[in-house]
Amino acid sequence: MSYDYLFSKDRKNQAIRQAGPQRVFEKLHAMRGRLIAFGAILIPAFLTGMALDSQGNPPSEPPSPSLQLEPSLRVQQALPLPDYAATPNRPPSAKQATIQTISIKVLAGDTLASLFSRYGLSAATLAKLQVTKHGKQLARIRPGQTLTLYIDDKKNLQRLVLPLDVKHSLHLIREHNNFRSTKISEKLETRLNSAEASITNSLFLAGKRSGLSDDLIMQMVDIFGWDIDFALDIRTGDRFTLIFEELYRAGEKVANGSIVAAEFVNRGKAIRAIRYTDASGHSDYYTPNGHSLRKAFLRSPVKFSRISSRFNLRRKHPVLHRVRAHRGVDYAAPRGTPIRATGDGKIAFASRKGGYGKTLIIRHGSTYSTLYAHLHRFARGIRGGKSVRQGQLVAYVGSSGLATGPHLHYEFRVRGRHRNPLTVALPKARSIAKRFRADYQRHGRKVNAQLNLIARLTVAQNSNSARH
Ligand SMILES: [Zn+2]
Repeated sequence: MSYDYLFSKDRKNQAIRQAGPQRVFEKLHAMRGRLIAFGAILIPAFLTGMALDSQGNPPSEPPSPSLQLEPSLRVQQALPLPDYAATPNRPPSAKQATIQTISIKVLAGDTLASLFSRYGLSAATLAKLQVTKHGKQLARIRPGQTLTLYIDDKKNLQRLVLPLDVKHSLHLIREHNNFRSTKISEKLETRLNSAEASITNSLFLAGKRSGLSDDLIMQMVDIFGWDIDFALDIRTGDRFTLIFEELYRAGEKVANGSIVAAEFVNRGKAIRAIRYTDASGHSDYYTPNGHSLRKAFLRSPVKFSRISSRFNLRRKHPVLHRVRAHRGVDYAAPRGTPIRATGDGKIAFASRKGGYGKTLIIRHGSTYSTLYAHLHRFARGIRGGKSVRQGQLVAYVGSSGLATGPHLHYEFRVRGRHRNPLTVALPKARSIAKRFRADYQRHGRKVNAQLNLIARLTVAQNSNSARH
């Protein structure tokens, strides 16, 4: 049992404890003072040149008048008809109709049918909603969602609104005797914010102290995970800086967007990542020089697992009890843990293979192949000849063949020769296409300058506070 092993186990547990369930809607109350000040400095200079593609597509129709979707319990109020009534198919009525707005927070066990009967709406109305384009989606209401009903004074449903996520909602609008369904994507305001943190004991704690949500930290782990093993490489004194988007509706923050740029200093070595969306709509993270941060292979096929046995040509085999080369890496993980293909490729073998038990071999072009052994089972659709993408779920951890307990045995071969998956130099994924390079350089220079600015301000601030 090595030091590394203890370290990684501890990290792993921390990650699991703290990556916890509370996520997207977590409010960033802690984001204060300095960060806001940075934001104020950065935003004007920034917004001019950057492709903030998370603004999304223009809404398919103008957003309906401020629909108050308060997540409170079953609030009822009478409101005058909002001006969506001005949509073409509704003849202007002489007297102003009264529409009652009912916001319903969906609770466990609620179905659309049970809610409809509770609010005096007919099964016939429900049936009409279900035959619309988004009827199926409507049937999958979940606890926590807030449904809004607009009911006229004759107890007819005029409109139903179901928010799908922070940006999208489903509107079912009465048209004569039927309903028309439409998905509306709201244009949210994107603001930029920044944060920086030093790691004293854990990445997640450092992030929390700077007011960052788990969601942003996981984004960062994904961006730098190609170069930094967050289970093994993190040391006290490592630090990071993030510039990220925040999405606002009517002046109120509703969610985090993407990380726009980031720097991670690991054991004194800085790596920078800049997000770039090319004209074809492909977004990725690149170094300031335009190299992809991505590699052609993931370093590890299982997330947050612990390495239980390393590549070792003179290991005593735990079952056979004699020296036998261990030409791969073992990842201990509970049975059923998902296994990802580490690179794009084609399945060369998916069957039983002696002591390896259920085994999967993926061929990645003519040079590389990867092997996954002791599987519990293959993922759906995984069989010889099928193509797989990097990160695709291909199998589940098990203990088939000669194994003392559930773990994944993973091998990496270069031209047929076993190499240590943890140390082999991994080929880079493609860099920015030539035709986008000049555009990226303009963008990259700007963003890089912003990272420099934050770094300088941080250093100045730290030396200031040291003097007090
Ligand atoms: Zn092994």
